[in-house]
Amino acid sequence: MSLPVPSLVDIDRALSSAEGLRFDAGLEARYEADLGGARSRRMAQAALALAVVWAVVPLYDAWLVADVLPLSIFVHLCVVVPFGLATARMIAQGAAPSVREWLSAGTILIAVAAILAVQTSSEAPSAIHHHWLAALPILYGNVVMRPRAVPATVASAVALVLYGAALGLGSVPAAVAVVATVNMAATVVFTLIAGHLSERELRRAWLSKLRSEVTAHRLTHRNDELRQLSHLDTLTGLANRRALDTRLDELALWSKAQGQPVAVMMIDVDHFKQFNDRYGHPEGDRCLVQVARAACEQVRRKDDLIGRFGGEEFLVLLPGAELAVATRVAERIRRAVEGLEIAHAGSLGGVVTVSIGCMAGVVDDDWTIEDCLRAADGALYAAKRRGRNRVCPPVVVPSGAEIGDEFATGEPTRLVPAA
Ligand code: GH3
Ligand code: MG
Ligand code: MG
Repeated sequence: MSLPVPSLVDIDRALSSAEGLRFDAGLEARYEADLGGARSRRMAQAALALAVVWAVVPLYDAWLVADVLPLSIFVHLCVVVPFGLATARMIAQGAAPSVREWLSAGTILIAVAAILAVQTSSEAPSAIHHHWLAALPILYGNVVMRPRAVPATVASAVALVLYGAALGLGSVPAAVAVVATVNMAATVVFTLIAGHLSERELRRAWLSKLRSEVTAHRLTHRNDELRQLSHLDTLTGLANRRALDTRLDELALWSKAQGQPVAVMMIDVDHFKQFNDRYGHPEGDRCLVQVARAACEQVRRKDDLIGRFGGEEFLVLLPGAELAVATRVAERIRRAVEGLEIAHAGSLGGVVTVSIGCMAGVVDDDWTIEDCLRAADGALYAAKRRGRNRVCPPVVVPSGAEIGDEFATGEPTRLVPAA
């Protein structure tokens, strides 16, 4: 599942919040997606380590509070250790984030409760020192396992209350009980603060990194847009002259390397000056847009390109096409424009038409893509000379004789226009 890219506003709001811990739902989901896996691994390992170490606590109890050894074995080996192992397993198996946090906090609390249960049940003289142990799960839990603020605070607060109650119930001297409770309260507060600071730094570092990533992503996207725009003609939306020049260079290399022909066709709107003079420039612009769209619809293969060469002229590049193919496509374009039936009182048929010159050939050391363009241009002039609204293949030199108006077929020719 891919999460939506957060907005810079949301990131900045989170970064500038005094606390730096509260994320909105979108940011929190992304934070969990980015760092939740590593966090789960760390918490599962910490719970496993606690369970393993806790297995030796009854040995310690056998020495200090031997009178309640069966109880010690039960609460430590049958409650704390299995709970720690189950927590480690569930987190490692992908428990939901909230379950992960509350299980970790629960492990801390249960460990404290187990120590206090043994302490309050024992009548051994050394039992009055046993309660000091209860600070260890708090330290370990809040600093190493480090559940989120709410579960950690709830578990620590309950542990503190239990601790105070246990001291009140037991035979610990009052002065010791006060010092021990203050000691425990300080441990709880300081470890919670440590956990809070550590989480805040982690979140801020993550936010800063995310901010850089989002900014870089935006810039790349914007660059792509600008690159695309810089290759488009603003009026017609077709490729512009720059894009055509780039494509011509590419096709020259490709044709030479592959020995494949490139077909070029030059399209020019007939009597367009008169059209502008009669109907006005804005109408001329609209006409050009329509002509461009109609021509574009006839250029269908993925690698073909049609662009505005300048003014009312368009260029079509067909990689791999021979002259016969190019003239067929050109004729389709000519008909499509005529079929628009844009009224043009100055033209022979009363509608806007185009003339098209075609050329195709394989580029090599003796014959460049510029030669191909010149030939198509020459063919276009031939079409104009012969009365416009037609497609012309290249004209022949050195004899100067022109190929007829019928479409050329067969192999790509290597002809250049007559002077
Ligand atoms: P021919 O049939 O020989 O091509 O005649 P023509 O009038 O089309 O050719 P000419 O080169 O004399 O005139 C081209 C006209 O195209 C002149 C110019 O006003 C018009 N033109 C070029 N670019 C634009 C444009 O972007 N918008 C408009 N409306 N007209 C343009
Ligand atoms: Mg022209
Ligand atoms: Mg023209």
